Amino acid sequence: MSVTVEHLTKRFAGGSHPAAEDVSFHAPAGAVTALLGPSGSGKTTVLRAIAGLEEADAGRVRIGGEDCTRVPPQRREVGFVFQGYALFEHLTVRGNVGFGLRVRGVARKERDARVDELLELVQLQGYGERYPSQLSGGQRQRVAFARALATRPRVLLLDEPFAALDTRVRVELRAWLRELHERTHVTTLLVTHDQEEALELSQQVVVMHEGRVRQVGTPLDVYDRPATPFVASFIGNANVLRGRVEGGRAALGGLSLEAPGGAPDGARVHAFVRPHEVRIARAVEEPAGVHAVIAALTRVGDLVKLSLQLASRDTLMVHMAHTELEALGLSQGERVSVGIRNARLFVEEH
Ligand code: ADP
Ligand code: MG
Repeated sequence: MSVTVEHLTKRFAGGSHPAAEDVSFHAPAGAVTALLGPSGSGKTTVLRAIAGLEEADAGRVRIGGEDCTRVPPQRREVGFVFQGYALFEHLTVRGNVGFGLRVRGVARKERDARVDELLELVQLQGYGERYPSQLSGGQRQRVAFARALATRPRVLLLDEPFAALDTRVRVELRAWLRELHERTHVTTLLVTHDQEEALELSQQVVVMHEGRVRQVGTPLDVYDRPATPFVASFIGNANVLRGRVEGGRAALGGLSLEAPGGAPDGARVHAFVRPHEVRIARAVEEPAGVHAVIAALTRVGDLVKLSLQLASRDTLMVHMAHTELEALGLSQGERVSVGIRNARLFVEEH
């Protein structure tokens, strides 16, 4: 079932801006849509409004095309998993997973069969008789997923489900969630402030900032074609260069790039350049090029991270394969010629 949010606004007393302001997006059926943004950007507010736990001041929520803005939460047929979603500590794993079914009056036999199926789905067969206190953090969250899925919700709502876990478990559970989604295909909304999680797990990303939607697109769209400077700086690493349009080109720290469409001469612009979009060569081989000095060089596994100092005093972070740097035979302190393969330019607003 798809989820459509239309012009949703929610204001809390005391906030400088609404927690959610005119938020609209469509989450396609069967896909994972990530709501991505920094802390306080309104992600949880939007998710709670979809669940019916928060009443919006304005706007609508549709599930499967049906307007359910006024439908109480228990009748929306959504499942939740929250960051610290407490399991019932006095119930076994089996009791937790089967809870929603028992409340709905599903008979014991049918319930047991469904719980077995769910434990298998979240790879916790054999854990049914344990209590939550006997599980690791990652296992507890998997029980929470099984519990959320038990009643076959139309939509799964996840609010930072892995945020409380340590990095290794978080990365493991990401792969696990992808597999789970491939098996269930349940429409999923995933709230996260972790761009890697969003880009890796979703088919669509809704980027939020200060209560507003800044961009909706595929993970590649928002990474390669950020719509605003905020999106460009929030998603992925980027160098920021500032300059002006001169003679139809953007002049930035000695580099010349294609000016953004329609920008007049004299306009202030800034460019976002991904570290892997910087090309370097030995300075002696491109004597007429824009030169820089390798100020620092750090090896991270197969990758090398360089910090280049341009004559303009701007620094450029560059990422390249270690083998590529070796082939160039370059090391710290050497002069290089710099080129930009691809950049995203914006005209600065006043
Ligand atoms: P996120 O999930 O992106 O971190 P939230 O939706 O939780 O953001 O919060 C958005 C804004 O709304 C924040 O400024 C937060 O302080 C405020 N807010 C959220 N819930 C409440 C509430 N119940 N009462 C007052 N302010 C709230
Ligand atoms: Mg939140």
